[in-house]
Amino acid sequence: MSSPAYAELVARLQRTHLFSTVGDLLGWDEQVNLPPGSADQRANQLALLAEMGHALSAEARNGELLRELETKPAPADGERVVVRQARRDYDRVTKLPAEFVREKAEHSSRAYHAWTAARAKNDFASYAPFLEKHLALAKREAGYLGKAAAPYDYFIDQNDPGLTGDAVGRLFAELKRELVPFVRSVLASPVKPPTGIFRGFPVDGQRLFLREVTERLGFDYRRGRIDVAVHPFCSGTGSDTRMTTRFTVDEPLDALFSSIHETGHGLYEQGLPVADAGTALGMHAGMGVHESQSRLWENQVARGRAFWKFFEPKFRAQFSAQTAALSSEDLYLAINAVVPTLIRVDADEVTYNLHIILRFELEKKLFSGELAVKDLPAAWREASRELVGLEPATDTEGVLQDVHWSGGAFGYFPSYCLGNMMAAQLWYAAQAALPQLEEDFARGDFSRLLGWLRTHVHAEGRRYDLLALVRKVTGEELSPRALLRYLRERYGTLYRV
Ligand code: ZN
Repeated sequence: MSSPAYAELVARLQRTHLFSTVGDLLGWDEQVNLPPGSADQRANQLALLAEMGHALSAEARNGELLRELETKPAPADGERVVVRQARRDYDRVTKLPAEFVREKAEHSSRAYHAWTAARAKNDFASYAPFLEKHLALAKREAGYLGKAAAPYDYFIDQNDPGLTGDAVGRLFAELKRELVPFVRSVLASPVKPPTGIFRGFPVDGQRLFLREVTERLGFDYRRGRIDVAVHPFCSGTGSDTRMTTRFTVDEPLDALFSSIHETGHGLYEQGLPVADAGTALGMHAGMGVHESQSRLWENQVARGRAFWKFFEPKFRAQFSAQTAALSSEDLYLAINAVVPTLIRVDADEVTYNLHIILRFELEKKLFSGELAVKDLPAAWREASRELVGLEPATDTEGVLQDVHWSGGAFGYFPSYCLGNMMAAQLWYAAQAALPQLEEDFARGDFSRLLGWLRTHVHAEGRRYDLLALVRKVTGEELSPRALLRYLRERYGTLYRV
């Protein structure tokens, strides 16, 4: 039986959460529908909502309830999880001075514009002072939360609770040791993915095919939708999940795979316990876990032969003229093309991890002081040559390519690669539990995999952090072993290396 204090806290958390969903919806609308001349009013609306949302979160009554609940002897397991997370969130909104929050928001806005201009002009020097100030603000922020001694750990923990820079560093070092030579051998293979084989895939056909795929995977369109936007993303909650995509007639796989990726995020949101929305029990378990869900569907499932055994005939039926001369093997190779690129967002799933390791290693050194901002472009070029095997000719396609740092989003990049590791571990665990999984896929049935993920990952909300969740579901520690095994099995076979 829950105490009145707990019931009151939950009601307050749910109200705050409901309030925040209004801002999410306005943010989605800004990307999808907003007339170009209406941006100022939208910015004002969002700023007002952010201020009101902050006030709701920071209400003193929340602090009183937390103190009361924290002094009670051992509450039920779920309650402990909810109170712990609520404390984290409350501390974050109350320990950061309002002046600091305003300064950071203003700086982020200015830094974003400086980054856009610097990227357009290939002029890192004009952006460097903004990045320096972001680092200084980041260290101050960690200090307000009592983490002055380990600011980078604070940011890692914001995205993936329980992890530290050193722990991530050990995992990435182990991955790098085997991944770099593996990529070299794939690239040296005489098997080459075909290029330029996709031409003139009508957007309407792509939309229909994508709808069928995402519905089959289990996305619930009664409480979600997909629209077109400049950048693909997934926002909202399990009660109303908004995904976006973008279509290009000569690159039909782009929209398809980025939409399957977003569908993975959407399936996770739709699988979180809706009744617990706003509390840790209805909340995703962190960015790495979220990314494990998108990557599992995008890569392990949708780039596999079983998936295409079912969908290839449908793809050909939808695009009969465009695929007439295309062999099945070329289609499969194009789906699993490994082509190194300087640009992270264009990278294939094998080399993608190298882009993340690069950013992580530089970011960690920026925080420790080993690397000065002014030396960052040169360090990036060197790391890119060593890891990806390519050296950018300009900073625009090097250190200036990603938006993250311009918004002060530090400790975020590692989540992408941690998600890949977790996805591979979940993949093998799911196959062990459900041996006929690939036969399901070949029949177009993905319900047993989704059911397994619902039970073991989605239904748990934020009861466990990434490390504990991997341990609980797979019986193993988080490690790059499964990812390396998966990459060898799929790409080693395909490229005969
Ligand atoms: Zn994602």
